[in-house]
Order: sequence, then structure tokens, then C-alpha cells
Amino acid sequence: MTTGFVFHELYLWHDTGHAALFFTPGLTVQPGEHAENPETKRRMKNLLEVSEITEHLSILKPRRATEDELARFHTRAHIERIAKMSAAGGGEASEHTPFGPGSYEIAQLAAGGAIVAMDAVLSGGAKNAYALIRPPGHHALADLGMGFCLFANAVVAIHHGRAVHGLGRVAVIDWDVHHGNGTQAAFYSDPDVLTISIHQDNLFPTNSGGLAERGEGKGLGYNLNIPLPPGCGNGAYLEAVRRVVLPALDRYRPELIVVACGFDASGADPLGRMMVSSEGFREMTAMVMAAADRLCGGRIVMTHEGGYSASYVPYCGLAVLETLSGVRTEIADPFAPVFAAYGHQALQPHQAAAISAAETLLAGIR
Ligand code: ZN
Repeated sequence: MTTGFVFHELYLWHDTGHAALFFTPGLTVQPGEHAENPETKRRMKNLLEVSEITEHLSILKPRRATEDELARFHTRAHIERIAKMSAAGGGEASEHTPFGPGSYEIAQLAAGGAIVAMDAVLSGGAKNAYALIRPPGHHALADLGMGFCLFANAVVAIHHGRAVHGLGRVAVIDWDVHHGNGTQAAFYSDPDVLTISIHQDNLFPTNSGGLAERGEGKGLGYNLNIPLPPGCGNGAYLEAVRRVVLPALDRYRPELIVVACGFDASGADPLGRMMVSSEGFREMTAMVMAAADRLCGGRIVMTHEGGYSASYVPYCGLAVLETLSGVRTEIADPFAPVFAAYGHQALQPHQAAAISAAETLLAGIR
């Protein structure tokens, strides 16, 4: 069985314009590159080509998600507003989420890319799949774009899986360095989707992603946040997966696992303060795959989220694709030994305490 891979050149044509990281330029802010620009994804795709791993992947052609497919989660007003602004040359989906002409269609293609990945895994055409899509999705709310996200790609794909394939319980693991607030909101009262987010405590959105946000109503207990202090490396991340994520999966027994795969917890990211290396992402992927093999026939759909180091994201992405496909290429990550030598890379006592606090939430999963 193969690993499916989704990409489209138009993902790189979504134009976030000029900014200083994410601040709009003006008389006191010199114009530069927006943090969410195409380069990280373009260079990741390029390294996949150079490594020749793409020859071992099953290439999936994305399509545009229809308005009805988006509306399984998003309000019609939000969809129409983005479409109208995009047709008029672009605009702001909300604070710090600029987009250009044609971004509506490109965002449809991103959500449709996640749908195509879901179709491949649920139809048995691929064992697992990675959707290298843009714009990202995990901050988008039903009625609002947010945090560089226009539509909630993974959420739309899960709703598609349920409506079209009769998909039952799904677990979402979000290891983007920012809180997966959009995915959390989408399934907050839904016990059929377990949402887990590992993120830097109170980074973005502010005052979001705390331990107390556990779901509501029938969904109480099925939202699990693992807020970590800044400075966590591979040691803390692997321990969080080992002590919280894997036991949560074993208790929940999902039919499929979605990973909201951001690479902004890396040691080189301008928007996060963590120190994970490609080896950390490789190991986390292997751990989740072992759980998926045990619980749900290996079925994993990964959607690309954040990650803003154009130099480093490609190596993290390659490590994940190598692990998913079982093909080890000859490309070595030149940064890995640098990050491995950083102080405090191993699990620290205060990090272990944060993980222990999240561990207490496991009892809520039945
Ligand atoms: Zn992020």
C-alpha cells in the first residue's frame, strides 16, 4: 500500500502580499515578506523532488471543494464574503489574514486537496496520505478566516469522510506550534471527533488552548489540549506523544487519524519558540503510525499547516514523508546535529510537569 501525496502549483500562487512577518506595512512598519509566503512549501516540494521520494508516492490530483462541501462547516456568509473579496482583488479575512485575487479558488483547491487525501485513504487506494496544501486551515472558524487560514481544510475533509464514506470516530492530532483552535471549535460538542492539540502555551491565538478547554455537552472530555512551555525540544514533544497522545488514541479507538502537520515547532521557526528537529517529527510520525496500525488499519491523513522557516521546513517535511512511505532517501538533514547539540533539548522537569497536567485529562475519554 502506498502513501498518497497532494500538491498543486496554484497553492504557491495564493498571495499574502507584503508585511513584516504578519504586521501590515505602513509609515512605521517597513514592507517585507509575509511570514505565510509560498517559499516554505515551494522548497519542501523541491526537496521532495531532489530526494526522488516523489517517485515512490501515489500522486493525487486535487480538485476544488464545492461551496456545499465547505458549507458542511463554514457559514454561507463567510464563504460568499471570501469569494466576493477574492474576485475583487483580495482583502483581509480577519486580522493578519490577507489574501489576493483568486485566493478563494485556491483555498477551495486546498480544502479539496484534503478531501482527495481523505478519499484515497478511505477508499483503500492509499494507506496514508499527505496533503501539501496552502492556505493552511487549523485556525479558520465557521464564520471567519483567522491566523493565515481561510477555510478549515481538515475539518471539511472529516465532514466529507463522514457524509460520503460513513466514517465514524476520528482523532485529530495537531502538532503545529500554535493552538488548533478552529478544529477544536468545529468539534467541541462532538464526541465522534477527538481533538488533541500540542502547542506552545498561549502563543496564538492568545488565551486559547488551555487545559480547561475540554469540550462541552456530549463532547465533554473529547478535546484535549497539551500546552507546553516555550523551549521544548524533541525530548518534551516525544514524551507528550508517549504519555498523552498515544494513551488517548488507545482509549478512543479511532477509525482514522488526521494529523494537522505544522512544522513551526522547529528550532528555526520565526513564529514559535520550540526546538524540534526533523528527527523529532520523524519519531512522532512513527509513533502515530504504530498506533494507527494497531487501531485503524494504518489510516492517517496529514494536512500541511504552519511552518515558516523556508530553510528548515523542507527537511522536516521530507522526514515525515520518508516515515509515512517507508522509503529512506539519501538526503541528510544538515541542521539535525545542530539542534541536537542545543542545551535543554532533552525533557526538562518543568516540561514533564506540563505533560503530567495534560495526562490527567485522559480519564475523560471513554
Ligand atoms: Zn502554526
